Formats: sequence, structure tokens, C-alpha cells
Amino acid sequence: MRDVSLLITGADQLVTVPPPTGGGGKRGADLAELGIIENGALAADGERIVAVGTTGEIEATCGLRPRGERIDARGCVVLPGFVDPHTHVLFAGTREWEFEERLRGRSYMEIAAAGGGIRSSVRMFRKADDATLLSESLQRLDRMAAYGTTTVEIKTGYALDPEQELRALRLIGALGQQHALSIVPTYLGAHEVPDDYRDRVDDYVELLTERMIPEAAELGIARFCDVFCEKGVFDVPQSRRILQAGLGAGLRPKLHADEIEPFGGAELAAELGAVSADHLGRVSPAGIAALAEAGVVAVLLPGTLFSLAAKQYAPARAMIDAGVSVALATDCNPGSSMTDAMPWVIALACLQMQMTPAEAISAATYNAAAALGLEGEVGSLTPGYRADLQLLAAPSYARLPYHVGSSDLRDLVVGGRIRLRNAAPPALRG
Ligand SMILES: [Zn+2]
Repeated sequence: MRDVSLLITGADQLVTVPPPTGGGGKRGADLAELGIIENGALAADGERIVAVGTTGEIEATCGLRPRGERIDARGCVVLPGFVDPHTHVLFAGTREWEFEERLRGRSYMEIAAAGGGIRSSVRMFRKADDATLLSESLQRLDRMAAYGTTTVEIKTGYALDPEQELRALRLIGALGQQHALSIVPTYLGAHEVPDDYRDRVDDYVELLTERMIPEAAELGIARFCDVFCEKGVFDVPQSRRILQAGLGAGLRPKLHADEIEPFGGAELAAELGAVSADHLGRVSPAGIAALAEAGVVAVLLPGTLFSLAAKQYAPARAMIDAGVSVALATDCNPGSSMTDAMPWVIALACLQMQMTPAEAISAATYNAAAALGLEGEVGSLTPGYRADLQLLAAPSYARLPYHVGSSDLRDLVVGGRIRLRNAAPPALRG
């Protein structure tokens, strides 16, 4: 008998999301392979999963340590915690007025001219003190956890100034210290061109490559360097210089690519061996082929396109058919995707991008981990992986996209510790 600190038994479905045999993200038909064990059980010791199998198999081989915890998962689906691999959680203040203006038909350019847009978030960020930024962001992480997320990537990018971008990076580091969820920091000093560089973008690119990115890497907090590669922000040659400066300083590249129009961002991601290319609402067929060939994970953000009332979503089916590893993320940000909820993103992936529920779950767990270089660590219920998992009070994984805009989360386990228990239903009756 093996002694363990956590035993979960009797799950209607234990959704293991097995890693692919070849490494990297899950592709093609393998994306829908969830590795479901009925009447499933899982044993973890400390932070790690040590065994998965049927309840009979696990109870025959694993016993609880003194003070170990047991979860009866009858009536539940157990699946890996969601990995949210693209967010801008660290921001100050929200932009409801702008949302109403957009609904009245004002264009983004008009709103930006009236003081809105990303630059209004930059002004609010620069003014906010550390305590405010931390407490607002910690609350957002609490809500993400309540929807089943256990790992969150967070980008800088609302400061756009050497000192303040470093402050953002330190604050993201502090969020990782202060919150139970695993936080993955990304440096995005190239989120937008700051006002005082509007007419001399190359000077800001030089500031980024010569000073900001090396200083950010020096702090030892960021894992990735990201850039907004889009018409009117940073073009392909500028994006290449920025990402090469990151690579030179030890930061792997990520890109905001081909969101508004085909712009060569996916091709650049492939050329540089980026860990992911994100958005891709208007990726070209050549861009899709390049992503598949280079093994770059495509992080799709349907919540953003929904929130912008877009008519067209990223071509997820074409990407899956071409062999691209597709992942999903919330893009949580105050301008274009004010959401904390991965289940809603999964619903959009199914209803707007024709992904199957099984594909969308792989994309929100294992492939989302691959978009952060963590595919050997989280996103799968496999021995050796971190025990990050969620219990849904539901008979099947398909409840996730089917029960739109809601959460059936009951329990959340992060690093082998139960962090939320019997979260639903709330005690409102009687
Ligand atoms: Zn983004």
C-alpha cells in the first residue's frame, strides 16, 4: 500500500487529458482524446499526482496518511484545473463607459480620441498605488479560481515606461506569492506605443530592446517576452527586433498576432520558434501552415471577439485540421474581454468556432499549459503532474459548454491542497 495525502474516489468521469506521445501540444484527432476513466479515482501525495485509475484499483493500492484528505466524487466530473495562458489581470480601474459608447456605435478611434482605449488604462495604472493594484487583481484571481482555473499567465503592459513596467513585473511576482493559483509572468512592454512616442515608434522599439527588456529579464521574474504585432502598433520588423531582444535576454517569445487583419504575425512566430501566437482572428492560410510546421501553439481568444461583437472568429477548425496545437484563454482585460471565466470561453469555442467539447477542454488544459511551456507540469491528470484539478457537480464533461455562462464547480485542488470545497450551491434556501 502506498501512503498518500489526498484520495479522490468514485468520480462519474475522471477526465485525465493524456499527453500526446510525440510531446508538444495535442494536435489533430488527439485533441479530442480525453482519457476518461469511469468510476475514476486519483491519489496525490504532497503537490504531485501519484496514481490514477478506477476506484477499485486506487483503493487497492493507495491508503491515506494520518490527516490526509478524502474527496467523495460521486456525481462529479474530475478534470485538470484550467490553465489560462493569456491574461492582462494586473490593471487598475474599469472602462464601462467605453463599453456603452461602443454599443451606441462610436468607433474605437473616436473613443480613443475622447480619452478611452488602452491608453486610459495606462493613465489609471500609472496613478494607482501598489496596494490597490494588488487587491483588485487578487479579487480577479479569486473569481478565476471559482471558475476552475489553477494557472494564470499575466502580462505587464499598462505602464509602457521603463520604471513602471518593472513595477508591474514585481507586482505580478507578488500576486504569485500572495495567491494560491500558479502565476506565470510575461513582459509586454510592447503592448502599445506610448503617447510621447506616437510619431517616433522606432525610438520606443530602441528603448525596449536596449533598456527595458534587458532590465526586465534581469529581475528574473518574467518567463516570456510578448509584443502586439498589428497594423498601427508594432509592425513585423519592429516585432522581430523586440522578440529577438527578449530571446537574447533569455525570454521566450509570444505574440499578439493577426487579430484584426493578416499581418504576418503567425509567420513571425514560426520563424522565431515562439512558444505561442495569440488571437489569430484573421490568420492567413500560410500563417496556419507555418504554425503547424513550427509547432507553435495557437492561443485563441473568442471572448474578445464576442465582446467586440465580431461577426467572425478565428478559424479553429482549419487550424486543427492543419495540425496546429490550439489552446484557449480568457484574454481577461478591461477593454475588450472583461471576463474571468474559462467555462464561458469553452462554450464560445464550441458554439462560435465549431470545436467539440472534448477538443475545447484539451485546449483549455493541456494545450493551454503547452502555450506556457508547462505541458509536462500541469493540464493533465497523469502521475508526476501537479495535483491541480477541479470537481464539477455534473455527470459529464460536456456540461461545461452546455451550461452556458454558469459554473458547476464544487471543489478546487491546487498543488494537492483543497482550496475550494462544496463551493456550490450557495446557502440561499431555508
Ligand atoms: Zn492580450
